[in-house]
Amino acid sequence: MPVTNEYDVVIVGAGPAGTACALALRSSGRRVALVDKAQFPRDKICGDAIPSPTLKYLARLDPSYVTELQALLASHHAPTTHSRLLAPSGEELRIAWHNPAFNSPRLHFDDALLTLVRRHTNTEVLEGYAIRRLQTDEHGVTLTPADATQRPLRAALIIGCDGANSVVARSLMPSTSLDRAYHCAAVRAYYKAVADAPEDTSDFYFLREYRAGYCWVFPVGGGVYNVGFGVLSEEVAARRLNLKHELSELLANHPHLAPRFAKAEALTTITGFGLPLGGSNRPVHGHRTLLCGDAAALIDPLQGHGIDKAVHSGILAATQVQACFEAQRFDADFLATYAQQVEHYIGRELTQRYRLMRFLAGNAWLVDLVVRAARWPWLRRQLVRAVG
Ligand SMILES: Cc1cc2nc3c(=O)[nH]c(=O)nc-3n(C[C@H](O)[C@H](O)[C@H](O)COP(=O)(O)OP(=O)(O)OC[C@H]3O[C@@H](n4cnc5c(N)ncnc54)[C@H](O)[C@@H]3O)c2cc1C
Repeated sequence: MPVTNEYDVVIVGAGPAGTACALALRSSGRRVALVDKAQFPRDKICGDAIPSPTLKYLARLDPSYVTELQALLASHHAPTTHSRLLAPSGEELRIAWHNPAFNSPRLHFDDALLTLVRRHTNTEVLEGYAIRRLQTDEHGVTLTPADATQRPLRAALIIGCDGANSVVARSLMPSTSLDRAYHCAAVRAYYKAVADAPEDTSDFYFLREYRAGYCWVFPVGGGVYNVGFGVLSEEVAARRLNLKHELSELLANHPHLAPRFAKAEALTTITGFGLPLGGSNRPVHGHRTLLCGDAAALIDPLQGHGIDKAVHSGILAATQVQACFEAQRFDADFLATYAQQVEHYIGRELTQRYRLMRFLAGNAWLVDLVVRAARWPWLRRQLVRAVG
């Protein structure tokens, strides 16, 4: 077997969770490796809406991260100040957000986060390094790469930030099958020349034919739009939906979407990916292991947003890393503090939002009612607070 590379901490996955964790470990004095199977810049199938708390969490680490990120993304983003919600009834509501956010293609956004890691930390970044297997023993964890010509890695602690199909999460829960009640399937493609599409407005279409999901049209800058459609996997399986086909049909025939896409040009094919939804109480830790972001199933079930939760959980994991090395404890009992923190700051809210999502999915008329009622300023404020 080739010689092993030794670290204190290996972060698997350099998406928002992994890069946030590496940034938060900047002054830890630990030997940190951040490994990803992809070469950056890499695409990630997403709606590309960067929720506003993302920047708040990064600014708490260092305000200059936000300034630098904005500079790196200067020509790859669209500031969004408004959303249009289209109810199943066809009624439309335009909302101005309290905390303006922005949309940015993940190809550029994630690359910018990794650039911050390279600039500001001593993290060893290993790209093109896919982890196949983890083996935990008394003294640490060995990570075996898929490519046998690469060296195995060894660390005291592993942070699993490797997304929806996490190898690290599977090592903790080997026999768990997909829970479709807590999983969403979604597809997206990029378009240009979309009509009636202000560059500061993200559009959400709630459709009567699909109970738990929505279609989106999000500007990402330069006249390009991220257009997608997501539905709860339970419904996808029960109705045997082919989401690529459903999205094409919607853009061609839906009475409000079809006129907007009549002259639109598809820049990519439609591609899909899964969203592990929060609220399921899936374990987020084990012996010598912490999970963050999608690997920990922390996506908001109401909106499908997970970038902010990925960043937040990555930062919470870094705090736990420090506590582990100070106490020289890496056992599951000690790491349970991280699980409590995730539950307190993220999980509890996701559980409530999961219940709300199920309630709205079972009562489509309520979405019509909410959009109509939100013409009243007080109700509109409540709505902005609930989803903004
Ligand atoms: C269609 C769709 C639309 C979405 N829209 C939005 C949105 O608009 N806004 C929002 O906030 N969220 C959205 N989400 C959710 C969002 O994409 C995720 O919540 C977010 O990417 C989670 O970040 P992460 O760092 O946990 O994982 P990821 O961003 O998935 O990063 C995981 C990283 O791990 C790497 N990796 C995986 N396996 C291995 C391995 N074995 N070895 C080494 N590296 C590995 C991958 O290459 C990847 O770089 C959407 C998701 C989908 C599918």
